[in-house]
Amino acid sequence: MSTTDSNAAESTARIFRSEEELARLPASERIRYRLVSAECRYHANDNISAHVREGELGELKAEVQAKMQEVLKALVIDTSSDHNTQETAKRVAKMFVDEVFRGRYVPMPSVTEFPNAERLNELMIVGPIKVRSACSHHLCPIIGKVWIGLLPNEHSNLIGLSKYARICDWIMSRPQIQEEAVTMLANELQQRVRPDGLAIVMEADHFCMHWRGVKDDQSAMVNSVMRGAFLKDANLRREFLSLLPRKG
Ligand SMILES: [Zn+2]
Repeated sequence: MSTTDSNAAESTARIFRSEEELARLPASERIRYRLVSAECRYHANDNISAHVREGELGELKAEVQAKMQEVLKALVIDTSSDHNTQETAKRVAKMFVDEVFRGRYVPMPSVTEFPNAERLNELMIVGPIKVRSACSHHLCPIIGKVWIGLLPNEHSNLIGLSKYARICDWIMSRPQIQEEAVTMLANELQQRVRPDGLAIVMEADHFCMHWRGVKDDQSAMVNSVMRGAFLKDANLRREFLSLLPRKG
């Protein structure tokens, strides 16, 4: 075998690691190894909880803290004498892993579905649900609102009102792109509720537009997804949109 051939063989062969070898790696590398082995995508807005084992989030936080400390150092901030930034790396790591990007690392909140016993088939609107997210491009906050419109049929599964907010929060607590966030939310609800029609409208403020760049203060972004009956029936769509109290 020539050198080029053996190099090619090496790069295509998956490197097998034993559990002992994995245990010696940093948690992020261990989790990445499992994701790659399972051929799972791990983009910023993907949930990777199925590949994270007990205790590893604590390890991840420690890793992020150490790297964040390096970022502060690279920014030439004297974290040892500046009392304001002494704990910043730790705070940011905790904020990322436990709060604002939590939707990447924990499974979906449990949601009880119950059959549509009353055979409800009228337009249902849930919202406004407060959205707190961050843009994938700058990791700046995205703050806004979501409205969900549903047209159930007799085969739909209904879920409690507060669960819509919990599923929404789980999807938004990741670095996101607004267009992808609404599609992800629509897919999750479609799968669970199986309505005849599903509509989602998200209106949000992107802080990367306020804080940096053009510093445009009029930069709310609106996205919508319309599926099933909301696509086919213009009257239904109009009814839904007219009931959103956002304009004015
Ligand atoms: Zn941005």
